[in-house]
Amino acid sequence: MSDLDLGTTAGLQQIFLERGALLEGHFLLSSGLHSPRYLQCARVLMDPPLATALGAALADRLRTLLPEAPSVVVAPALGGVLVAHEVARALGCPGLFTERQEGTMTLRRGFVLAPGDPVVVVEDVITTGGSTREVLEAVRSREARVLAVGSIVDSRGGKVDLGVPRRSLLELEVPTYAPESCPLCAEGSTPVKPGSRASR
Ligand code: ZN
Repeated sequence: MSDLDLGTTAGLQQIFLERGALLEGHFLLSSGLHSPRYLQCARVLMDPPLATALGAALADRLRTLLPEAPSVVVAPALGGVLVAHEVARALGCPGLFTERQEGTMTLRRGFVLAPGDPVVVVEDVITTGGSTREVLEAVRSREARVLAVGSIVDSRGGKVDLGVPRRSLLELEVPTYAPESCPLCAEGSTPVKPGSRASR
């Protein structure tokens, strides 16, 4: 991984573009909104050495925030599972994940958090912060303490306030538009569904 530049926004963005994890064009999102960018973090995490390097880089940024070593890293499934695993590898602790059970984000599979446990919460991409907040609630429902939140990508440029210190590796603006006010549509182009064409 020594040939990869994980330390700068430009270097990271280049890796995301090369791996097809960041697509640029005119996309129709599942929400019905349009965007000039589409993120698919799994396209970088599918490469094990790269996932390990990204986890280590995120762990390095988080360490500067941490008043003490975390006892676990927790992320929401599915997108956060590999991130928790790799950040936990770098921080030297277990990596757990939460899942929805009857609509509520919870720890299953014998994962245990004790009252007072210092926890780092991670994500692949933070957009609105919705799923991250659900993980924070799940952690706090066990009376564990959240030290910090980390994400590989922040697609709102750091604007979301989760009430705890946080860091991301790559801050990216991913604008979304209603179809009727989409500047790309106004220029006459037609949005495509991401993944509708096979890319390898
Ligand atoms: Zn459009």
